[in-house]
Amino acid sequence: MQRYLFILFLSLLITACNTASKSKEAGVKRVVTVTIEPQRFFLDQIAGDAFTINTLVPPGTSPETYEPSPAVMIDLGKSDLYFRVGELGFEKVWSERLAQNNPNVTIVDCSAGIELMEGDEHGHGTDHADEHGHAHGAADPHVWSSPQAARIFTKNMVEALVREDPDNEPLYRSGYAKLADRINAADSTIRHLLQDAPSGAFIIYHPALGYFARDYGLQQYSIEFEGKNPSPSQIRELVDLARREKINTVLIQRGFDAKNAEVIAKEIGAEVFEVDPMTYEWDKELVRIATVLSRQRDE
Ligand SMILES: [Zn+2]
Repeated sequence: MQRYLFILFLSLLITACNTASKSKEAGVKRVVTVTIEPQRFFLDQIAGDAFTINTLVPPGTSPETYEPSPAVMIDLGKSDLYFRVGELGFEKVWSERLAQNNPNVTIVDCSAGIELMEGDEHGHGTDHADEHGHAHGAADPHVWSSPQAARIFTKNMVEALVREDPDNEPLYRSGYAKLADRINAADSTIRHLLQDAPSGAFIIYHPALGYFARDYGLQQYSIEFEGKNPSPSQIRELVDLARREKINTVLIQRGFDAKNAEVIAKEIGAEVFEVDPMTYEWDKELVRIATVLSRQRDE
């Protein structure tokens, strides 16, 4: 394991050197770190190839259970900026450690100024933090599923870049303007798709679409209960509720359990779709989710 880590570290180092030497600038290409891929998508639009961008949580991995390797921590320490999503469990611990060990890294909370929702989608308020790092009663961290929140989220990103690198302000401002157009386009496409949605509610394994649901007047029900698989009686409750609300869609996600979702879907005659709110293609994925939710019953 140690040997593997060492090789990994070496190859990261070589990659970093290669990237730097390929840079058009005289100096070394600057490094920034983000937590999830949708943030890399946003940064690519805002800053083009001005930076080398590291993503902490690899695709297909749940940020709730993510544990970074030592090599990742070293890379993070070499960054000019670290863009945290905001309220994800591990980010708090990591940001504190980073601030202590690498005070030169500017930490940006991308969720600053967003009106946060409460965490537990089942509405059973308890105060303890579960093993996946969701502190119940704490804020729902999944702000990036909402185009409305994304406007604030990406504004936080561009302002941080301008503060860090004022010489390139025009580049970042124009990148941001194009990104804002893209966010607006996604928002209106989704709004149009969902205006005639047959059901105002959907079931999802892990409650990652709370802010999306809030934007478009939908109700999200999660199968996962306090970060764990539900009990048989909780499944029965959810099945009854799904029948009452005529829910025809059950969403599952990469990196999370699918068995319970399939059991519930079969029970209520709903279709199961896999979605990936952690994917790089942020706007395409949200439009795809809206397309799934907008389809008519019995098709
Ligand atoms: Zn989550």
